[in-house]
Amino acid sequence: MTVGRFAPSPSGKMHLGNLFSFLMAWCSARSVGGELVLRMEDLDPQRTNDEYAALIRRDLLRFGLDWDREVSCQSKRSAAYGEAFARLEEMGLIYPCYCSRSQVHAASAPHLGQSEFVYAGTCRSLTPAQRAAQTRLPAWRLRVPNQEWTVHDGLQGDYTELLSRDCGDFVVRRADGVYAYQLAVVVDDADNGVTQVVRGRDLLASAPRQKYLFSLLGKAAPEYFHVPLLLAPDGRRLSKRDGDLDLDTLLGRLTPEQIIGALAHAAGLIDKREAISAKELASVFHWRRVRKSDICLTL
Ligand code: GLU
Repeated sequence: MTVGRFAPSPSGKMHLGNLFSFLMAWCSARSVGGELVLRMEDLDPQRTNDEYAALIRRDLLRFGLDWDREVSCQSKRSAAYGEAFARLEEMGLIYPCYCSRSQVHAASAPHLGQSEFVYAGTCRSLTPAQRAAQTRLPAWRLRVPNQEWTVHDGLQGDYTELLSRDCGDFVVRRADGVYAYQLAVVVDDADNGVTQVVRGRDLLASAPRQKYLFSLLGKAAPEYFHVPLLLAPDGRRLSKRDGDLDLDTLLGRLTPEQIIGALAHAAGLIDKREAISAKELASVFHWRRVRKSDICLTL
């Protein structure tokens, strides 16, 4: 049985790009009679809130994108993340990192074409005495091996990273105690029995390290489909902050079916730009037809 998921961060309202990813996730699971779970990625109490979570649930349902089971919330799952963290710690794979953000940036090369920085390993082999001399609260990093990890993405093809070079030891728990996205997502997908991850192409670079975490925790990784991003007419990525293509504004002049039709047409799933419901789209959905490259859409 296929189990897909929606994993929105309630740090703002949904925009058209989020809707597109969720539509693909929903159609992919429903087209084969699968289930979907909805998980609110509200790990960071500073940036997320319940009002946005409620708006996201409302918006999904407006477009006919329903889910099964109770909604799960990352903010209530720290015990599960703590258990996984303890297992990794027992394996000797976790170490405290006292570097400030600017130290991390100064010591590491920005990853080609990405905004992320590859950690140079500054705190990897500190002695107990050196650790004891630190004053700053540490973040906790996971050691990555000098190994290549390949993800077979159903849409983008094979994607490989040499973890030590392309990713570096990454944070699994922040200095303020909040578990990091990478750890939480893997623990949740494993506990929810998620077999299929469909999300934006911007997260492709996270997939090898997540696959590595699945293997450390003794769980099978899901299959991955990283879908194209939606770009604003000037080529910028859509963002929640800019209020880009706000769904309320769009729904003032278009029906949900017209919006779905425009997205499905731009993605290559239907030949003409015409209104279609999510359910109708699921019945003609096939990954073979979905385009890989980013989409610039005017509505
Ligand atoms: N919460 C993430 C986001 O909204 C998605 C994480 C994921 O799908 O793994 O961008």
